Amino acid sequence: MSRVQELISLLAEKEVVARASIAKAHRICKICGEPADYFYTPRAELEYSISMICQSCQDYFFPKEQ
Ligand SMILES: [Zn+2]
Repeated sequence: MSRVQELISLLAEKEVVARASIAKAHRICKICGEPADYFYTPRAELEYSISMICQSCQDYFFPKEQ
């Protein structure tokens, strides 16, 4: 399974769906549930504000291609 497919199946999981509604208020990652208070770049922080996915999950699911 590719990481994108893995991410898509994770996003459909009950815990992830439930966590998504509280992730931003608690500043946690909706995927892993860990605190999301550290980002390498403003772009990663922006990504969190959109997707609520923490830096380490972003690194895993969105590997840099350049
Ligand atoms: Zn995470």
